[in-house]
Amino acid sequence: KHLVVNADESEPGTFKDRALLEEDPFAVIEAATLAGYAIGAENGWIFIRGEYPRGYGRLQEAIRQAREAGYLGQNILDSGFNFDIELRRGAGAYICGEETALFAAIEGQRGYPRLKPPFPTTHGLFQQPTAINNVETLVAAMTAFEMGAAEWRKYGTEQSPGTKLFCLSGDVAQPGVYEMPFGVTIGELIALAGGVPGGKHIQAVLMGGAAGKFIGPDKLDTPLTYEDTRAAGIPIGSGVVMVFDETADLHRVLYDLAHFFDHESCGQCFPCRMGTRQQADILRRIAFDGDARPTDKQLLLDIGAMMTRSSLCGLGMTAGTAVMSAIALWPELVE
Ligand code: SF4
Repeated sequence: KHLVVNADESEPGTFKDRALLEEDPFAVIEAATLAGYAIGAENGWIFIRGEYPRGYGRLQEAIRQAREAGYLGQNILDSGFNFDIELRRGAGAYICGEETALFAAIEGQRGYPRLKPPFPTTHGLFQQPTAINNVETLVAAMTAFEMGAAEWRKYGTEQSPGTKLFCLSGDVAQPGVYEMPFGVTIGELIALAGGVPGGKHIQAVLMGGAAGKFIGPDKLDTPLTYEDTRAAGIPIGSGVVMVFDETADLHRVLYDLAHFFDHESCGQCFPCRMGTRQQADILRRIAFDGDARPTDKQLLLDIGAMMTRSSLCGLGMTAGTAVMSAIALWPELVE
């Protein structure tokens, strides 16, 4: 059995795991060890994003110190439990954050996603049973374990207990990672980050990351819990709250998102390989040439739906989500 920590955090606007990896690498090691103990795995792996050199260096050193102190290795603290961690570094591909592509990368193969099922629980790393979670999830589980369930449940709501890390970026005075109990509203988070500089108005907020959705200022009172966001059709995703003020060029923002997916598509399946390219081409023409054609809106919606329905992995399935959400709110952007 394997325990894999997915530290390949590469989504634009997402940097919560980075804070944990850089500021508290021992928490990541302890969380991985506890998770390994819980599932009876002796092999731990941390796959860290290649562009996180500081986190990589600190983890490397923390693993060395933990081994030296007997917190990793054979018979940890005389418990009879063996667990060690191998640290692997990505090479810059966003797709390697997809769990099966991540397994392929660790195995030394090209980082292509695999069809699911079979799922990692039975056929994961090296085709063996594997639990894989991201850094924040494992550290949150460790914290809940340490505090006890009753104490953890004092934060958040009945259906969304505990706290969550939110990544505030874009047009806010103090961008950064904010840990808040579930239930905080989007507006409260933006206020915590100092609000929009210069007293400008909010034009749009991208929620959940590049694969998330746009909302307008009318949704700022939405509490960030799983139940409330599900009802409102807003993804919490990786906790991204990216704010765009009234001066932001949303044409350019949409193109940047589309360009990101076009660049990061691994090209293995054609709905995503061709869809992300066409989506980016259309949005580039609109953003840079000001040339929106009568068929563009429907074409973008068709491409988005096709990618969502028929792509092989999560990248393609969500590559059109933000664009489609923007078209639903502001159709004039592509008209
Ligand atoms: Fe690759 Fe995109 Fe297909 Fe995923 S959906 S396997 S990223 S081409």
